[in-house]
Amino acid sequence: MSHSLTQPAFGKVYLVGAGPGDPGLLTLKAKGLLEHADVVIHDALVSPPILGMICEHTRIIDAGKRRGRHSMAQEDITQLLIEQAKANAVVVRLKGGDPFVFGRGGEEMMGLLEAGIDVEVVPGITAGIAASAYAGIPVTHRDYSSSVTFVTGHEAAGKYRPQVNWSALAQGSETIVIYMGVHNLVNIVSELMAAGMGPDTPVALVRWGTRPEQEELIGTLTNIVRQVEETQFQAPAIAIIGRVVNLYEVLAPVSPMHSPHWSAVQA
Ligand code: SAH
Repeated sequence: MSHSLTQPAFGKVYLVGAGPGDPGLLTLKAKGLLEHADVVIHDALVSPPILGMICEHTRIIDAGKRRGRHSMAQEDITQLLIEQAKANAVVVRLKGGDPFVFGRGGEEMMGLLEAGIDVEVVPGITAGIAASAYAGIPVTHRDYSSSVTFVTGHEAAGKYRPQVNWSALAQGSETIVIYMGVHNLVNIVSELMAAGMGPDTPVALVRWGTRPEQEELIGTLTNIVRQVEETQFQAPAIAIIGRVVNLYEVLAPVSPMHSPHWSAVQA
């Protein structure tokens, strides 16, 4: 039995953003890592064509967590990453969108550093930017909005001491992009209107943005909740609130979803 006096050489974990779905939006760095990974541990929002790009010899682990069907607890995922880094050279932790935007990338990175594992982040295009763009909605525009806020709608508005200050947002941000907000939309809308946001403020929901199944729902603070109920509009979707949503009418017809090249890229 031999004992090594030196520190074992652990592998490295890359915390990689896969973007919102369209594989054409993957960074070159992410693509290169997918080609060289020994193991890929991905979440539920990574799109099938991107998973299809992973080399056939690479082990793929689904750590996907979707609302109501948690497949792995966050601590277990961090533990799994540590174990995999001890057994492999290149470990890719692949997340939908950007790892540091509502992706718990910060927690995972801290956990890995505490365990002495080398880790590097590779940003991805976040849904708030890409799904908006593919719906023909620029999140800022010189004439309509000079600020944009990304906010989580997952924590219930109106709950005791909510972390999101919806009334400050109603006053201070011209474009609000809400992640994980579909289930709470009724509370969010009423908080924003109570804080003085006009009932006619336009709202867009974009579901499965940049994927072939992308769907949009356009309304106002007054009618969007009713529309969601009537159309049975489901998550995952982002909500965009603000005057920039009016540009949808003009820009959606020329968005990448309607480009003849788009389906070729997806294939
Ligand atoms: N890290 C991701 C966000 C994870 S939180 C990112 O940067 O995009 C999960 C939420 O992101 C979903 O509930 C939804 O609100 C949003 N989301 C992720 N992918 C999406 C997509 N393709 N289209 C619309 N919304 C999406």
